[in-house]
Amino acid sequence: MSQEFTFFILQIAHQHPVLWYIIIVLLGMLAGSFITMLCHRLPVMLQWQEPTKPSPSTEKTFNLFFPRSFCPNCQNTIKWWQNIPILSYCLLGGKCHHCHQPIAHSYLIIEIISVLLSIITALIINDPIHTLWWLLFTWIALALTILDSRYLLLPDSLNYSLLWSGMLFSIVTHNAETAIISAFVGYLSFAIINFLYKLVRKRDGIGQGDFKLLAGIAVWLSWYELPSVVLLSSIFGLCYALYLFLKHKSLNINQPIPFAPFLLFAAWLWALYLHNFY
Ligand SMILES: [Zn+2]
Repeated sequence: MSQEFTFFILQIAHQHPVLWYIIIVLLGMLAGSFITMLCHRLPVMLQWQEPTKPSPSTEKTFNLFFPRSFCPNCQNTIKWWQNIPILSYCLLGGKCHHCHQPIAHSYLIIEIISVLLSIITALIINDPIHTLWWLLFTWIALALTILDSRYLLLPDSLNYSLLWSGMLFSIVTHNAETAIISAFVGYLSFAIINFLYKLVRKRDGIGQGDFKLLAGIAVWLSWYELPSVVLLSSIFGLCYALYLFLKHKSLNINQPIPFAPFLLFAAWLWALYLHNFY
């Protein structure tokens, strides 16, 4: 990272803290808006899910940037002022400007969660440059969490984004060698556990997507932090299983439970915890 940029960021964060937090909130809003779009379009693009409503535009090119955002009910294109994260939702009273059908709450909730996670990250990590890096981790983690919990989908594009951004972070912080070892350790630890599980149960216990995800997490945190992260995520997972058991009074052990949300949340918490010792 160029020295001028680093100096500029440090100056804003240390001399104008209010401006710094305004920037963090704006970045969180933008990221939240991008994540909602990503979580709606990626499953359709990967043909993991049919579009919620057949639209003439989905028959043509459909990617992250085309067609422009449209109302799933009346198909009208959403104008820029109707598409400002959080603000537009409140301005429009949670309804489409054209057909007055309610807009899904999930848009607003994801944007608010993104802002909150961004603020917490910035509050806990003192180094402003590290804050920006970990914001990137936080946003990719949020997108993966939503996709895995909604569709049991961990797209390669996001898994590799996590891995390669972690590599870049390691190179910048002069930790490239550990990062490469960590990627292998992360991938292999889940691959080996799955191999042993498959020997006994004759089916996969952990998805391929989770191997790549653990490799990405390992690169960001270094391999020697993995036992803590996996232990913490297992505790979260067990609490969730217990909650399901109490709710339904039974537990179906064959039903796949998305594990990535627990893993990513544990990794995020652990990263914030470790930053208190830097
Ligand atoms: Zn509409």
